[in-house]
Amino acid sequence: MKVEVIELPYAQDALAPAMSEKTFSFHYEKHHKGYMKKLEAALEAGEADKPLEEVVKAASGGKFNNAAQVYNHNFFWTSMKPGGGGDPSGDLKDAIDRDFGSVDKFREAWKASGAGQFGSGWVWLVNDGGKLAVTSTSNAETPITGSAKPLLTMDVWEHAYYLDHQNARGTYIDVWLEKLINWDFAAANLAG
Ligand code: MN
Repeated sequence: MKVEVIELPYAQDALAPAMSEKTFSFHYEKHHKGYMKKLEAALEAGEADKPLEEVVKAASGGKFNNAAQVYNHNFFWTSMKPGGGGDPSGDLKDAIDRDFGSVDKFREAWKASGAGQFGSGWVWLVNDGGKLAVTSTSNAETPITGSAKPLLTMDVWEHAYYLDHQNARGTYIDVWLEKLINWDFAAANLAG
């Protein structure tokens, strides 16, 4: 992944009504690009040409927060798609059945993780040494500083849902699973 805010693979109103254009545009244009602006100011000579993952792993403090937030949001936009939702298939479904018991059990774990993350953070589906797991991270924290490989993520900062759902994080998560989750992205990450 390059050190940049990704070009979106769909229009900013393409996830509506599951995620409104207003929520999307504030999130992408103000929050995500805001992190990028601060990261750019903190980059050292030549660093902009390195992979973003490398910049995240080498950074600390405020620079880490901005670099990781650029990475996490890039991952988040592609964790959703217009007409998303439904169930996974193929190898991904087999792995979810194996490690969670069923896709419904996965959804329960995802909801519990999102509801249980106190304050701002992220929910992740990761491949941890060949076993899939749901985890959450606080603030800008990201699995790529550890050994587990991320397959999907969902932003649970209030800015991700407050305009559409106010304080109802649980409703946001339900809609996210029903209408937005991009299983194709997870399957590609599992295979890649
Ligand atoms: Mn966000």
